[in-house]
Amino acid sequence: MNCRECAEHLYEYLDRELTPELERELRAHLDECPPCGEHHDFEALFLKFVRARCRAQGAPPELRRRILRELFEE
Ligand SMILES: [Zn+2]
Repeated sequence: MNCRECAEHLYEYLDRELTPELERELRAHLDECPPCGEHHDFEALFLKFVRARCRAQGAPPELRRRILRELFEE
């Protein structure tokens, strides 16, 4: 797995939607690539924050995910 693939699958990884094989590859990449590891830590923290807020507001999962994607594409 390279950095681009890692970034592409990061959300699915955080949502635990990857196949076990992809998840293993992504985790291996995070271990050996410090920039991606930091990226992951940041996204994980941010996701936790957004989830807590969205849960409080009762946002449906699809909407929540769209908001996240839009935020990070900017
Ligand atoms: Zn990387």
